[in-house]
Amino acid sequence: NDSNLNCLSFPVMKTWMSHVSVNICLVHTGMFLSVNVQVDIYERLPVPFGLVRFGVAPDHPEVKNVINTFTQTAQHARCSFHGNVRVGKDVTVEELQEAYHAVVLSYGAEGNRTMGVPGEDLAGVYSAKDFVGWYNGLPRNSELRPDLSCETAVILGQGNVALDVARILLSPVDILKKTDITQHALDALAESSVRRVLIVGRRGPLQVACTIKELREMVNLPGTRPEMEASEFEGIAETLKSLARPRKRLTELLLKAAIETPGEEELERRNRAERAWGFRFLRKPLEVLPSTDLIRAAGIRLAVNRLEGDGEGVRAVATGEVEDVECGLVISSIGYKSLLIDPAVPFDTRKAIIPNTMGRVQQTAGLYCSGWVKRGPTGVIATTMNDSFDTARTLLQDIGKGTLDVSTVKPGSQGVSALLEKRGVKPVSFSDWEKIDSEETRRGEIKGKPREKMLDVGEMLQVARA
Ligand code: NAP
Repeated sequence: NDSNLNCLSFPVMKTWMSHVSVNICLVHTGMFLSVNVQVDIYERLPVPFGLVRFGVAPDHPEVKNVINTFTQTAQHARCSFHGNVRVGKDVTVEELQEAYHAVVLSYGAEGNRTMGVPGEDLAGVYSAKDFVGWYNGLPRNSELRPDLSCETAVILGQGNVALDVARILLSPVDILKKTDITQHALDALAESSVRRVLIVGRRGPLQVACTIKELREMVNLPGTRPEMEASEFEGIAETLKSLARPRKRLTELLLKAAIETPGEEELERRNRAERAWGFRFLRKPLEVLPSTDLIRAAGIRLAVNRLEGDGEGVRAVATGEVEDVECGLVISSIGYKSLLIDPAVPFDTRKAIIPNTMGRVQQTAGLYCSGWVKRGPTGVIATTMNDSFDTARTLLQDIGKGTLDVSTVKPGSQGVSALLEKRGVKPVSFSDWEKIDSEETRRGEIKGKPREKMLDVGEMLQVARA
């Protein structure tokens, strides 16, 4: 049924946007419940697509194709985009709830876990979240200007974000310049002195958090060679038989890169490589060591761990040994975390999620959540899409069961527009965004890139309103 399809497709879009509100009117047709949903999407920036635009690596254009699906949804007659509206500031969640029958919060995870070690604030230390935002054109990170004048960079954490960052630091600029990476990042990377990237994990080779596709990209990255410590892989080959298939394939590839003697062609490629990358295992950050003037990072002190337990759930325990690694760039990539955007919304500060049951926010009728704010910052786009479908199903079930009250008429976006107008906030519509999109594409074409992203919100608004 068309209306159900619509209901199922809107969460795909909201997954990557900040705030979604749903104005629902019901028509009962015989035995079937026909749901006619109006979906309004609220987003803080004047541009849509959240993490697909600002998180997905620029050299993964195929992943960004999901934007085409989102665009189709946004152009649906019963869906509208309201960019440039800060929920929690320009309009509260309570005000949205008064205007809509249901509000779905899917604003992701814009905070990051911190290491909590001395020296974390030194120049040359960045969170992966900010570093990714910088090369992907997130306005708030456009002034990051990371110092890439050192030879060795250390990335803490071994997830896919860590590998994205490592790849961007080491990729030949000729590859990156054909992507939608921001020009300022491209210029800085062209001048970069970084030649060696160490990707450090607190646990062992069997617990790396990255996936095989991302590892394969590192192994095959032109102009680079893997540089690992064979001793860290002792006993790993013997465990292969007992591993589940995805972990087995990942570990086989890791072993191949780390300890196998390469064939002639590969050996030649590695010998020619001017840059290197490698995993370091069983190391936990203790302190970022300062330069002699105490201003910037000059190294990192790592605690040497050993493992306790078996399989993926093994714990790292400090041995008491420490090791110092010289490096001028430290990027902490130990995970994202969701933040509370409005004090009226229940929030579990320990887990950094909105407490919910299958997407229903606990103790708050008519409030739902989806994506990373619902279950934490894990999983790829498909995982988050499926999670959104689940929340949509929950919402539809609540309408069907009558537990979501849709009996009264709600003003929807008209009610919110009136509030925003009083507060001097001018939302950006989807067709306004399309003007920004065309301008970015035009600027990209001149440089042979898919787009050159605008970095300044003021400029985005100017183009949107031209
Ligand atoms: P992640 O996959 O959860 O990896 C976090 C890493 O940080 C792990 O190696 C973890 O080690 C380590 N870590 C956590 N806390 C630590 C601490 N206190 N000290 C030292 N190390 C610590 O997170 P992510 O890389 O930020 O990625 C987030 C999600 O986005 C993931 O599901 C990822 O797959 C997805 N993503 C996908 C892609 C893609 O598909 N290309 C790209 C980017 C992100 P432990 O295992 O020991 O906890």
